[in-house]
Amino acid sequence: MSRIFNFSAGPATLPQPVLEAVAAEMLDFGGQGMGIMEMSHRDKPFMQVAAEAEADLRTLMNIPANYKVLFLQGGATGHFSFIPMNLLAGKTRADYILTGDWGKKAAKAAKDFCSVNIAATSEETKFTTIPDRAGWRLNPDAAYVHITPNETIHGVEFLDTPDVGNVPLVGDFSSTILSRPVDVSKYGLIYAGAQKNIGPAGLTIVIVREDLIGKVLPGLPPIFNYAEQAANDSMLNTPPTFAWYMAGKVFKHLLAGGGLEAMAAVNQRKAEKLYGYIDREAFYTNPVDKACRSWMNIPFTLADAEQDAAFLQGAKAAGLAGLKGHRAVGGMRASIYNAMPEAGVDALLDYMKEFVRTRG
Ligand SMILES: *Cc1c(COP(=O)(O)O)cnc(C)c1O
Repeated sequence: MSRIFNFSAGPATLPQPVLEAVAAEMLDFGGQGMGIMEMSHRDKPFMQVAAEAEADLRTLMNIPANYKVLFLQGGATGHFSFIPMNLLAGKTRADYILTGDWGKKAAKAAKDFCSVNIAATSEETKFTTIPDRAGWRLNPDAAYVHITPNETIHGVEFLDTPDVGNVPLVGDFSSTILSRPVDVSKYGLIYAGAQKNIGPAGLTIVIVREDLIGKVLPGLPPIFNYAEQAANDSMLNTPPTFAWYMAGKVFKHLLAGGGLEAMAAVNQRKAEKLYGYIDREAFYTNPVDKACRSWMNIPFTLADAEQDAAFLQGAKAAGLAGLKGHRAVGGMRASIYNAMPEAGVDALLDYMKEFVRTRG
């Protein structure tokens, strides 16, 4: 068996030691004579896995005690709607900062439930920057301010948490959660689909300050109600047990590797290697403002788009997959999440250099 380097934006590559550990207990989890996938979520062994995953995530992210951690479904896209349903709490307005297509989608979904104020957008730059904080037109009556800390398609990342005063800050961390330390106390709510930096698709993590939940829009089904889910340990119905279990394995793997500070050091080094080369080599271009370049998703174009197909074909032959850029941006995109080894970035750089030498 030989594994390739998978640069897919999501679902994405997972840590090999985690995959090996999961494979080893696929048929028999902990001497139970059955796999974890086949077990009731109410059985003790799974309940323990679930509780440990939450405890480990709390340790990893240093989550304060007054925050609930929920293991839900629906994807980040589902929560684009569940968030206003849960957080409006009698208010009628929410602020959105747009730095890419995911934030745009989140704002559009919220329009079904409240009056959405686009307090700032960098769309006129084709989402290659973050609007200057001083120019944000925030509404003091907003129920929350929504940002997308890392825009997966455009490769634009907030490298600092913006100060929005007393209005709760909500962040769609789908493609950057666990890539670096984050001060959870600066957010009212953090959410992330698992399939980029956590584990398999089907799990969505919500970390929410407990005083913000419980006052939902009338008619909201309990399954979408964060307070109900919190009161039931995210087990109002059958949770995505396998994804939850695997996320727990990833959390333990990260803790054993030194936690998020250690991850951040590696991630920064990986990203700087790639940006450094792209900036030095005229054949490749990354259009994003240097102050907000993503550590996780690095889009780049070739000087000659006619060569895109040859680039991708050669990459595949060299064991480098998933590099085709998003259709909204074109060109290439290298997603280098936590689980992408530094050797994968080195292999990509070698290939990019070789491509310029032979075709550039
Ligand atoms: C992938 C992604 C989404 C969509 O996630 P789903 O789980 O497919 O709904 C939303 N926001 C961001 C930032 C993403 O990267």
